[in-house]
Amino acid sequence: MAAKRVVIIPGDDAAPEAMAAAMEVLGAMKLDIEYEEFPPGEHWKRGETELRARAAIDASDSTLFGATSGKTNAIMHLRWGRQTYANVRPARYMSGAQSPLRSPDGIDYVIVRENLEDLYLGLEGPLSELRPLKPQSRILRAPLDTSAEGRYAIKVITERNTRRVAAFACELALRRKRAGGRGKVTCTAKYNMLRESDGFFREIVEETVRGYPELEYEQFIVDDFARRVVQSPHELDVVVAPNLYGDILSDAAAGTIGGLGVAPSGCYGEDYAYFESVHGTAPDIQGLGVINPTATLLSAAMMLEYLRFADESARLEGAVRKVYAQGKKLTPDQGGNAGTDELARAVIANL
Ligand code: ATP
Repeated sequence: MAAKRVVIIPGDDAAPEAMAAAMEVLGAMKLDIEYEEFPPGEHWKRGETELRARAAIDASDSTLFGATSGKTNAIMHLRWGRQTYANVRPARYMSGAQSPLRSPDGIDYVIVRENLEDLYLGLEGPLSELRPLKPQSRILRAPLDTSAEGRYAIKVITERNTRRVAAFACELALRRKRAGGRGKVTCTAKYNMLRESDGFFREIVEETVRGYPELEYEQFIVDDFARRVVQSPHELDVVVAPNLYGDILSDAAAGTIGGLGVAPSGCYGEDYAYFESVHGTAPDIQGLGVINPTATLLSAAMMLEYLRFADESARLEGAVRKVYAQGKKLTPDQGGNAGTDELARAVIANL
């Protein structure tokens, strides 16, 4: 029996092309891992494949996931079912990647996004539903006009999820500090406007970081933080944010280090973690054989580290970096003219 079991869910549209390339590389690494591979989303049978995927996930050590546009349904189970509360999105520049910044070398920070709540609970509806609650606006100092035609959305920040995502960010900052990092946690949210919800998030994060005397703490209102992602990304180390801001800002962060094609992520819970690229399913380039597999490969490297294959994780990341430094086999999003497979084969050659 292999040391670890990993579920592979390729996802929808162009995502399976990136996953196939990543599997070619993982296969070449000959790791002590047993892979259970699911088909691309278009071949999923409603209900049946999803049930099978859930059972496989529960019996596995981790999952490598492509992106979904709705045909692949396992994401709910991976996120809410397995309570993977911390979405870790590194923004680390690789020499040779297409950054729009003048000096991207040395950008190396991580956005830790709360992954389960905030505005992502689907608590929306017509304003009339709020009528019985007679909501009072703190800003307008008046009741909300619930007779207007309109919609509402509810934002939820719980103490439990905030504490655990904050503690996760602190532990990560500590590990990075031991490896030569700054040892700093930055909290960002709109706590000046959303005093109750984002204010609560900010307060808990600050309190948590204060429990780690080795770490520095700083906070920025999210609009100011957005500017810093572009103007002074070198000053960041570990950033912690509520779900929506973390989602948006990590795409912006990806833009500064070479775009969605090179941005990996991992979603960690107490007893499970799964890994996926930051990008979506890139339907506009499906079938062209040019989707950049780097984000999936770097997500796989994060997975190997989680599975305690630390040396193999470094080996994979090192091989990817070499391909960028060489600059000969890059996909069109990186200014090259190589196909998905060619980039994967160049990584294999550098392993
Ligand atoms: P989602 O809502 O799931 O994030 P989306 O369609 O808004 O999906 P993406 O699928 O991430 O966003 O695609 C945004 C743009 O980036 C598209 O033009 C897509 O082709 C491009 N893109 C995304 N990922 C890659 C990649 N790995 N390689 C090359 N281009 C990519």
